[in-house]
Amino acid sequence: MTSPSSELNETLKDWSLPRLTSRVYWDLAIWMTGFGLVIGVVFPFAIIVLGVPAAISLRPLFFLGTLASGTIVGMVNFAIARLAVGARMRRLSGRMRYVGAALQHATRSGDWSQCSPENCRLEVDSQDELGEAARAFNWLLESLASSHATGAAISSVTDSFTENLAFDDLVNTILDQYMFRSGASAGAVLVVRDGSLTVEAQRNIAGDAIQDASLMQQALRTRAITSVDIPSDLAIDAVAVTFRPRQVLVVPAWLNGQALGAVILAYSGNVSGETTRLLEAFQPSTSVALNNALTHERLQRLAAVDPLTEAYNRRFGLNRLAEEFSRTMRTAAPLGLLSFDIDHFKKVNDSFGHLAGDRVLRSVSTAVRAALRAGDVLIRTGGEEFVVLVPGAGYDDLETLGERIRRIVELTPIDVGNAEITVTISVGGVTYYGSDARDPEELLAKVDEALYASKKSGRNRVTMSRINELIAD
Ligand code: GH3
Ligand code: MG
Ligand code: MG
Repeated sequence: MTSPSSELNETLKDWSLPRLTSRVYWDLAIWMTGFGLVIGVVFPFAIIVLGVPAAISLRPLFFLGTLASGTIVGMVNFAIARLAVGARMRRLSGRMRYVGAALQHATRSGDWSQCSPENCRLEVDSQDELGEAARAFNWLLESLASSHATGAAISSVTDSFTENLAFDDLVNTILDQYMFRSGASAGAVLVVRDGSLTVEAQRNIAGDAIQDASLMQQALRTRAITSVDIPSDLAIDAVAVTFRPRQVLVVPAWLNGQALGAVILAYSGNVSGETTRLLEAFQPSTSVALNNALTHERLQRLAAVDPLTEAYNRRFGLNRLAEEFSRTMRTAAPLGLLSFDIDHFKKVNDSFGHLAGDRVLRSVSTAVRAALRAGDVLIRTGGEEFVVLVPGAGYDDLETLGERIRRIVELTPIDVGNAEITVTISVGGVTYYGSDARDPEELLAKVDEALYASKKSGRNRVTMSRINELIAD
């Protein structure tokens, strides 16, 4: 493709008559009349060559006659040219004025309907410079419209990103916008976490082909939008059909020399240069939004997590409990709650030191977290006391989970420096079905009662509080 500046240079190289006045029509009149005069002067001599006697052709009256004729022909030519060209030039400039006014209106009002390329384009009715001017004008209009459309898309995409500070909402918005704006049939958002890429959102990709190691590596290496090798098992999962994509693009997100992630887009056809340029225009705001969301998430995590055990802290945990509690009220899905406390923990501190006690706390927390599912929440509510929120768990499920974590702790050896020890926990459990307890504190009190019952009856055991006892309250 020729660049705009090379095209401009080509146009400027065109040869033209020297300018005589500041008006093209005056120049034309002077050139045409002057040429008529020259013909008038030359004509009497030319006909001598053709055999007309000089006595006739150089007679003053004849000479004056040819001079006058030449001038008149020049002037008439000029008048005809002005009539033929002038009307069309005026039409062209009138149309340009209309478009100029429509553009001004559109810029002020934001309503571009009056100035779509269809409304404003000029009719190209001749194969000459005037036709070329109309064509160039139409091209200018199209470029303006496309630049306006790109600007509008960028600002709408940026707006939708800034509305979403929550990480999950953001990655889904990014994917939806990229797919919609670029016409992709499938896609995924990958984000760098702890040095490796994880898939945070994906649409219409059959199976988990996106996890393909080579695709991940290509995505992480890429700094510009790149068309990548399509993994052999990557397919687009469209309604009722699954097919191989024609092209797969990786749009990377980098900020300050650091890779944040990438959007992978699969297309059923080939991607145009215009689409690639649009995606390029989305990159800066995507990177900033992703970076903000990751930082926000990191800060929230720092504020929510107990640094020693990496369980959630009491403040965050009680908020989560309140959220889960009201969700249960709305959905009537059960909410399970376990509470556990390390048995004779004081003895660990007394025998092996406070640091060994800390190791025990960390080890118990890690072991219990490994036994939980993704939606379960481990909270350190006090020194060696923890609560587990288990959304969706009924009485039996909760009892099974309580027993599982009790066993895991009992069986996990802990290296406390100069010895390897094991500890046990006492567990209490209660399941809430959405209509019986009056507030979360009541639930916590109930589960603590169950834990206390485990302690009282010999420790290292699970006591469940029955929901009907709660109703009896
Ligand atoms: P029980 O079986 O009845 O629960 O007995 P226990 O010894 O575990 O209970 P107690 O409440 O008497 O002791 C808890 C101890 O936990 C006392 C406190 O010093 C210790 N502790 C609390 N927080 C921490 C901590 O962060 N690190 C360490 N190393 N110890 C802690
Ligand atoms: Mg204890
Ligand atoms: Mg205690």
